[in-house]
Amino acid sequence: MTGKCAVCDREGEVFVASSTCGGMSCAYCAECLASGAEPWEDLVFYVSLAGHYPEQINEMYREIVRNTCRRLHKTEEEFAQDVEKAIKEW
Ligand SMILES: [Zn+2]
Repeated sequence: MTGKCAVCDREGEVFVASSTCGGMSCAYCAECLASGAEPWEDLVFYVSLAGHYPEQINEMYREIVRNTCRRLHKTEEEFAQDVEKAIKEW
């Protein structure tokens, strides 16, 4: 099917798969699916519910964060900052 990738925002062929972040389904392009990345905003929100990154986050989710950062050319510091912002917002 054709659509927009929830991770990298690219239009093209996407695959709907269940996210590792809770019970959602997202559309992923083949590259994002293969990389193990998750949509940034969803991942920030999900991790912020669990606690501060990285010290309160388990290794499984740290790995997903690293995959997502690599895929989106962002850093773990940026991720940690967004998590802190999300924690403050609620
Ligand atoms: Zn993608």
